[in-house]
Amino acid sequence: MGVGLVNATIILVMLSLSASWATAAGRRYTVLHYGVRLTLDFEKRSVEGVETIRLRSHSGSLTDVELDADEIAVNSVQLGVSPQAFSQGDGHLTIHLALPLKPSKSLNVTMRYSGSPTKGLRFSRDEAFTVYATSHWMVVNRDPGDLATLRLALTVPAGMVVVANGENTSRKTVGSQLISQWEEKRAIPDFVFGFAVGRFHQNAMAAGQAEVRCFSAKYSAQQMNQMFRTTPDALAFFSERAGVPYPAKTYSQVMVGGKPEQELGEFTLLPESYGETLRAHPEDEWLMAHELAHQWWGIGLACGTWGDFWLNEGIATFMADVWLGERYGAARYEKEIESAHKIYEGLKETGKDHALCYAGKAENEVSGRLPYDKGAWVLHLLRQDVGEEVFWHGFRIYTRTHMGQTVSSKDFQNAMEKAAGRSLGKFFEEWVY
Ligand SMILES: [Zn+2]
Repeated sequence: MGVGLVNATIILVMLSLSASWATAAGRRYTVLHYGVRLTLDFEKRSVEGVETIRLRSHSGSLTDVELDADEIAVNSVQLGVSPQAFSQGDGHLTIHLALPLKPSKSLNVTMRYSGSPTKGLRFSRDEAFTVYATSHWMVVNRDPGDLATLRLALTVPAGMVVVANGENTSRKTVGSQLISQWEEKRAIPDFVFGFAVGRFHQNAMAAGQAEVRCFSAKYSAQQMNQMFRTTPDALAFFSERAGVPYPAKTYSQVMVGGKPEQELGEFTLLPESYGETLRAHPEDEWLMAHELAHQWWGIGLACGTWGDFWLNEGIATFMADVWLGERYGAARYEKEIESAHKIYEGLKETGKDHALCYAGKAENEVSGRLPYDKGAWVLHLLRQDVGEEVFWHGFRIYTRTHMGQTVSSKDFQNAMEKAAGRSLGKFFEEWVY
């Protein structure tokens, strides 16, 4: 996610309005896969969905399965052809299984739902896109540590262009409707599931083995080529620093109306106004680089709990600063890091400092700028402490070892200590724990 103040405020408000943030931890199952068929009605600004979740019980036998669903009404729940009892309220859907699910066994449960979300999904006349959080348009286990694959089929008016997670596996027009099917093969957290639909122009640029694409209703393909001409270089640079190539075939930057700054699996939602910014100030690449960095740090390596959110946001912020230094010189890196430092000092002065690893904290308690700016500042201090070579060696160990998995502060410390060949306990105690 980006750190625009307006955006951060919106996220805070949204989080405090939502009822279901605190409850995901401690659920006794893991979701393996979500399959969703979603129809968007632009006139009514509503959705209808059929969703199948494959989940596995991981401790004890399971009779009640609690999931998260805000602003969507579940109309039926079935296990195969047998209807299952369920109840819904306070942002939760609870399925009362007719037969308990034994430990380590899995099942497929299918739900039908409908809703007119006011959050989680933004409609305009010709555009729709998802915003935080996913539970407003599909049923999920809202736990950042529960990684799952996703197959999403969207039905929208014919002539529209769809961008969603992963690969576009099929596209067909039936009468006045387009059905666009997408498959996300990486297991990723639910909060980076999403899509954008609109009457977009699009471009494509080669980026090594991958392709960078841009989408916008406002700007032409040629304008987007110009605005985002350095994204392929940033992608190559992050691949090199990660020691892991970009993990998919395509990366899309979608500019829409509104103010989204949101990383999602294999794409990013950006505000149209960012296009104007880039046209006036081509060097203002921070947001482009920050969101791209999340494809490794935040999505590829996903914080296992909200308490380690700094591993998503601090690293993406730091890597955007490193990219700017790479492209525009060391002074630019110093300037960006100093800006993060200043923001952190400001937070300290107003009594808002806390440990980066904010163990046991819930989703609504870890937002704000601390994970971003203190995170970037502390990574800079660590880089100075251990030196350039050890820092990047440790950074690559961390990224390579945990790509496709959840991570904790301890994982990051272990990788850095392995590279340094010594304990970094004192540094991590002071700055992280
Ligand atoms: Zn971010």
